[in-house]
Amino acid sequence: MKEPKTLQDAIRYFSDEQTCIDTVAALRWPDGVVTCPACEGKEHYYLKTQKRWKCKACGRQFSVKLGTIFEDSPIKLDKWLTALWMLVNCKNGVSSYEIHRAIGVTQKSAWFMMHRLRSVLKSGSIATLGGSGAPVEVDETFIGGKAKNMHTDVRKRRITRRGAHDKTIVFGMLERGGTVRAQVIPNRVAATVEPILAETVADGCAIHSDKMTGYNSLREKYMHEVVDHAVEYVRGQVHTNGMENFWSLLKRGINGTYVAVEPCHIDRYLDEQVFRFNHRATKERKINDADRFIAALSQIAPNWKKRAKQHATQPP
Ligand SMILES: [Zn+2]
Repeated sequence: MKEPKTLQDAIRYFSDEQTCIDTVAALRWPDGVVTCPACEGKEHYYLKTQKRWKCKACGRQFSVKLGTIFEDSPIKLDKWLTALWMLVNCKNGVSSYEIHRAIGVTQKSAWFMMHRLRSVLKSGSIATLGGSGAPVEVDETFIGGKAKNMHTDVRKRRITRRGAHDKTIVFGMLERGGTVRAQVIPNRVAATVEPILAETVADGCAIHSDKMTGYNSLREKYMHEVVDHAVEYVRGQVHTNGMENFWSLLKRGINGTYVAVEPCHIDRYLDEQVFRFNHRATKERKINDADRFIAALSQIAPNWKKRAKQHATQPP
């Protein structure tokens, strides 16, 4: 069967357990050499009925799930892979209720699955923004439930003062036409914002931002252009429209799809939206649903070598 292109294809494709195993194995061991997570041995027997390998060196058995986010979960790979497909390809995100109905697990299981899947979407990239010469748009936004929609007890717990105080602050940087980075920040003072910028944005590049206090001392390092949103939104080439676009996607997901996101989980939703945004199709870059899925799946076992060491210290 050909590689899936649509959700319907994906469900059919992954309904075969061996196909799921082969797909995960191919991404986990890209050179095609199945490697024992415990001792890194490269010779095994394949136990066909159990769909597990038995290592010739240390005698341990392992499945393709061991050392990945799917480890220790009784949920079968067909459901995991379908859920991941939906997560990375639904533009506004997908709620645990939708996953629960679509793949037939309880809502609680679906919530747990989405949480685990999101954890692999976190960008491992350390490349700086602005290196291409394109300006970097820098902006921040506030995320927080509207008090009038909350239950009284939640409102009492969450809303302690008026204004931005009870909202979560998200700080974002976007190389125009390129990738975005975003993270939750505790406050907007220069001591918080500037180290993040210094680490993420190439020296000497153009930064476009709204008029904000934390940015005043950046003149030495960057060409800082400000557009005062109290006056205008675009001044020549100076604007933060790309960031605004990202915020609206993020908020549509958080307010529309997830309804109520506890502040402590916003980080994860942010990673999810950043992943989708950075793997979006553009005029220059053709990316389809399958590409996005493969990109996410190839991150499923990011620290399996570290875990392998832990396994190795345990008796067989
Ligand atoms: Zn081994």
